[in-house]
Amino acid sequence: MTTTAGPFAGPFAGTSRLTARRRESELDALASGPAVDLLVIGGGVTGAGVALDAAARGLTVALVEARDLAFGTSRWSSKLVHGGLRYLASGRIGVARESAVERGVLMTRTAPHLVRPLPQLVPLLDGLMKPGQAALVRAGFHAGDALRLSAGTPGRLLPRVRRVGADRARALVPGLRGAGLSGALVAHDGQLVDDARLVVALARTAAQYGVSVLTRVRAEQVTGTGARLTDTLTGESFPLTARAVVNATGVWAGEVDPSIRLRPSRGTHLVVDAAALGRPAAALTVPVPGSTSRFVFALPQQLGRVAIGLTDEDAPGPIPDEPQPTEAELDFLLDTVNTALETALTRADVRGAHAGLRPLIDTGDGATADLSRQHAVLESPNGVITVVGGKLTTYRRMAEDAVDTAVRLRALPARACWTARLPLVGAPAHRDSRPAPEGGVAASLLARHGGAAGEVLAAGEERLGAGHGAPVAEGIDVSRAEIAYALTHEGALDAEDVLHRRTRIGLVPADAERARAAVEEIAATMR
Ligand SMILES: Cc1cc2nc3c(=O)[nH]c(=O)nc-3n(C[C@H](O)[C@H](O)[C@H](O)COP(=O)(O)OP(=O)(O)OC[C@H]3O[C@@H](n4cnc5c(N)ncnc54)[C@H](O)[C@@H]3O)c2cc1C
Repeated sequence: MTTTAGPFAGPFAGTSRLTARRRESELDALASGPAVDLLVIGGGVTGAGVALDAAARGLTVALVEARDLAFGTSRWSSKLVHGGLRYLASGRIGVARESAVERGVLMTRTAPHLVRPLPQLVPLLDGLMKPGQAALVRAGFHAGDALRLSAGTPGRLLPRVRRVGADRARALVPGLRGAGLSGALVAHDGQLVDDARLVVALARTAAQYGVSVLTRVRAEQVTGTGARLTDTLTGESFPLTARAVVNATGVWAGEVDPSIRLRPSRGTHLVVDAAALGRPAAALTVPVPGSTSRFVFALPQQLGRVAIGLTDEDAPGPIPDEPQPTEAELDFLLDTVNTALETALTRADVRGAHAGLRPLIDTGDGATADLSRQHAVLESPNGVITVVGGKLTTYRRMAEDAVDTAVRLRALPARACWTARLPLVGAPAHRDSRPAPEGGVAASLLARHGGAAGEVLAAGEERLGAGHGAPVAEGIDVSRAEIAYALTHEGALDAEDVLHRRTRIGLVPADAERARAAVEEIAATMR
């Protein structure tokens, strides 16, 4: 029988704090304890969402992640919370509406502290668009507005599309080319401060509901009723029995369940200083020359950067831990964005580059089926339930579908899904409110931690004393307190987790090198 207060709720029940000690203790409990209701494999946005959904319904859940939370595709996204506009263009109204609804849930209820409204600007520049293309973009934006309305997301959160003059366009994106600029269309979508932070918030909220969140634990020999789990830190392994198993390993899904055949496609972003585009307040949308439907985006990011993306390249073969962008992709992104800029960016402006893999289903005849729009929940012959595809924006819906499937197939005694009303760690308790700035709390800290910002500072002061609010390294807008908090509350096990997944300092390799010594020194004081 299922209980909500099983051994895994144990000494850590009710707390979202993830620590190395908790990990060890919960691993021990799992190795010697009874079966769990659900084993979730993969600690990206999908797996963390599934674990939270199931635990909030009253099931006992273990979540295992071979490396670290958000190690895979979930940290290489464009960090947009899409309203589904792009799916309207291909007539997929159901998928578009699902995105718009989930965007509204994230922005008003579950994670308003992590998602902000982002103006997106399409410049009306001589020669940039084909005749009639601007009218198409405008029609699309209006359709997006209608979707927003139908999803119940208020216009004060995501303002309606409007046309602005050339001066306003250049105020929003100062790097925009002036000659031939007659104005711009401006629409709004949601933007995450950081995709990996969404995953960490999900995993911590899941932990609060009793999920054993176990990083550096690899699942092997996976069946519909369990798996062999190996602690990659010690090499020890043990079998875990579960009433249902969900494979949420993204592009690695075929390694866990050989009946799944994927053929990934690579999406690359490069990172430049925001100053190189005049510190834009809006995302710049630039049509790819020769195409009416493809665009390159220059997206303002935290830490004073702009990310420029996105490519779509076939990437067959073994799945690498960290996919690498190619030189040709970097040239394509720079060439495209430069068509709209006053001063062209060059390779010397590139501070970093990263790539993620989208899972496409390999149909075996050389063709692929695109799962990047809609997700799939599949049951393999050995009973493993795989949830794959979709996007960050729709993780909650994917999780609901996967858990519904597990509950139905294995007759698990679970309540109905209620995650659309469940605020994540750091979110305000009341719908439609946003974390209010507190005296002395930096805006960047609030953007990354929401209502937990005060706790971050308090924990930092306790551990580090005076100087806890200082930047980890000169010019890097991440405080020493956040580094400590990553290790004491967010399940980071070493400096790499901190640099690359709890903070995103590592998106610029030179910054990671500058911050590494301080991060390692703080980590040493935590042991
Ligand atoms: C370039 C790019 C840009 C994107 N931009 C956006 C965007 O702006 N907005 C949006 O909504 N969506 C976006 N998406 C889609 C979104 O990023 C993905 O849908 C989502 O991150 C997939 O998450 P996941 O949890 O399914 O997979 P992953 O994040 O890859 O997680 C799978 C995890 O499983 C773990 N794992 C693998 N094997 C095992 C094992 N045997 N045992 C234990 N753990 C294992 C891996 O270490 C990994 O952490 C983008 C995708 C790409 C590729």
